Amino acid sequence: MGGRGGHGSNTDSSVHRARGTALVPGAAGDAGLTVLSGPSGVGKSTVAARIRKKRPDIWLSVSVTTRAPRPGEVDGREYHFVSDEVFDAMVEGGELLEWASFAGNRYGTPREPVTRRIAAGVPALLEIDIEGARQVRRAVPDALLVFLAPPSWDELVRRLSARGTEPPEVIGRRLELADSEIEAGQEFDITLVNTSVKDVCEQLVALMTA
Ligand code: 5GP
Repeated sequence: MGGRGGHGSNTDSSVHRARGTALVPGAAGDAGLTVLSGPSGVGKSTVAARIRKKRPDIWLSVSVTTRAPRPGEVDGREYHFVSDEVFDAMVEGGELLEWASFAGNRYGTPREPVTRRIAAGVPALLEIDIEGARQVRRAVPDALLVFLAPPSWDELVRRLSARGTEPPEVIGRRLELADSEIEAGQEFDITLVNTSVKDVCEQLVALMTA
C-alpha cells in the first residue's frame, strides 16, 4: 500500500522540538531521567542496545515482561522474563514505575532501580512504549521524553516485516498500533528521526549527558 503522507510533517527534520517548555536543548530534564519511546519496529531496542554497548556511563532500565524471549535475548539483559503471576504481584505491590499491555503481553519498569539511579545522579534511560511514556510523564514530570520516529511509514512496515521474529498476525497487530503511536509523537519533548542508529545514539547521548 502507499505511503502515509499524513505523518510526513512530523518527521521532516532530524530533531524537532514538539513542546516549547522549559527544556533546554541538550538537557535531560532535572530528574536525569530520559524516556525513549516510539512505534513498535522503529528501532528503539537497536538504539538501546548500541547505548548499552558504547556508553556504560548511561544506565539502561531492564523491564519486566510476560512475553517469551526472542532468539538471542538474555534474561536480565534485554528483559526480565516473568510469568503472569509474578507480573501481577509486582503490579499489586506497587513495584512498577509504569506498565502497559502491548500486543498481547505486559511490560513494566521496576521502580526501585530507577529511583536509585536518579538519587545517585546517574543518567537513566527507559526504552518503553507510548502508554508507558505517558505514565512516566505523570510520575516524573521532569523526565525528558524523546520520540523516535521512522523515516517514513513504508520504512516502518518494511522493518516490522523484515524482523522475521513474529507471525504475520502479530506484525499486523503491531502495525495497527503503530498508526496511533506515530500520532502520539506530538506529546513528546523532542523527536529524533531514525535515519541512522549511530546518529540517533549520538543525539540521544548528547541530550542525556549535556
Ligand atoms: P518488544 O516485544 O518488541 O520487545 O517490545 C514491545 C514494546 O514494548 C516496545 O514498544 C517496547 O518499547 C515496549 N516496552 C518495553 N519495555 C517496556 C516497559 O517496561 N514498559 C512499557 N510501557 N513498554 C515497554
